[in-house]
Amino acid sequence: MEKERVHKTRVLVIPLPVQGHINPMLQFAKRLASKGLKVTMVTAFSNNEAMETQENSVEFEPISDRLEESNNIENMVKWFQSQVSKRLPELIVNQENNGYPISCLVYDSAMPWILDLAKGLGISGASFFTHSCAVASIYYNLHQGLLKVPLEEPLVSLAGLPPLKAHDLPSFVYDPGSYPSFLKLVISRFSNVTEADWIFFSSFDSLEKEVISWMRTLWPIKTIGPTIPSIYLDKRLKEDTDYGFGRFNPNTDTCMKWLDSKEEASVVYISFGSMADLGKEQMEELAEGLKMIKNNFLWVIRESEVEKLPSKFLEETSVKGLVLNWCPQLEVLAHRSTGCFVTHCGWNSTLEAVSLGVPMVVMPQWTDQTTNAKFVSDVWNVGLRVEVNQNGIVPKEEIELCIREVTQGERGKDIKRNSVKWRELAKEAVDEGGSSDKNIEEFVAQLLCKPC
Ligand code: UDP
Repeated sequence: MEKERVHKTRVLVIPLPVQGHINPMLQFAKRLASKGLKVTMVTAFSNNEAMETQENSVEFEPISDRLEESNNIENMVKWFQSQVSKRLPELIVNQENNGYPISCLVYDSAMPWILDLAKGLGISGASFFTHSCAVASIYYNLHQGLLKVPLEEPLVSLAGLPPLKAHDLPSFVYDPGSYPSFLKLVISRFSNVTEADWIFFSSFDSLEKEVISWMRTLWPIKTIGPTIPSIYLDKRLKEDTDYGFGRFNPNTDTCMKWLDSKEEASVVYISFGSMADLGKEQMEELAEGLKMIKNNFLWVIRESEVEKLPSKFLEETSVKGLVLNWCPQLEVLAHRSTGCFVTHCGWNSTLEAVSLGVPMVVMPQWTDQTTNAKFVSDVWNVGLRVEVNQNGIVPKEEIELCIREVTQGERGKDIKRNSVKWRELAKEAVDEGGSSDKNIEEFVAQLLCKPC
């Protein structure tokens, strides 16, 4: 039925050009396309190889032939802003001439200036949040002056959230001086959010029920997650990944052959995402901890981080371990051999593990990861959070203990039961008629009803 809809409208999807924002917005773009909309995703740079591997339901519009490399997020965003501002009017005219006028910009909430551009061009705007509703509500409280930093109390009480200790809050909140430009960026998204025509969250209703109810007293937010292709939610694997697109290339063949050769739930998968970098001492403790476990392990260490590994680690662990620079994470999490995920708790990784029912050991590093870790260990009960010692390091014994507890211990049994429960609820949300599916349907219907 969806395919029979005839329409003459297009949406532009514009993520911040970093992996953790590109992934959920690309999947959302594909969902919109599957429901009959024409969708173009604006990318920062042209990565032809990666674009060719994507199915063509979504078109790509690179605004440059290279990504401005910068360690300073503020500079990168400024560069992206100048490129988008320059190209947008031309893109809009082109699409109008092609017979599919752009009626909506779905923009990353980290770039609220896109909404101003949209309004100036007479187009509607949908703000897309790539982190949890809980985290958005903490930042919103900060923006409104309802939460003061530095913190005045050891325990923070906010509407719709469990009591939070300092280290359960995002790092920009408990340590506001650490990354002032990031703090500015995360707070800026509330400057004009009330003017957005839609507000989307990469989450699902049953996962964050209380805080979502509270947020809906402020704005009519719509959850659309988990943004994971249903092929993975059904635990069926296919040969080529169509997930992920960006700066890293996965070692898919090596990875999947290795996983295929392992026994069910015997593998511990370790990844700290696209940005977090562990100190050398922490890498060494983690490496030692992995030597101590009985399980097989698959550890993703980005190229820039490999030099921190102890010199003989790869040879010493070659029988039970595989180290790769990047992997097709969804396929890894959906694979029968994967029994535990040691994660930094980036929101995408967290949501992916929750939705695929993989128990976690959580080792948050910074930004919203600390809050996600709190929910994993104490609210959803789908993982254990490691304890950091007084030097700020998680020792090898603690790593070994948490992995053992999750994979073989009594707590692990409970965690596995909860993981299955949340996996089913995630699937329910995106299945036809589920809460996230209905929200997407409504958005598409509203756009298609607009006069062409
Ligand atoms: N990812 C991947 N392969 C890897 C590691 C990560 O495809 O080897 C993906 C992962 O599935 C997730 C994204 O990269 O969608 C990382 O986003 P997240 O929010 O977890 O962390 P960030 O990179 O933003 O810190």
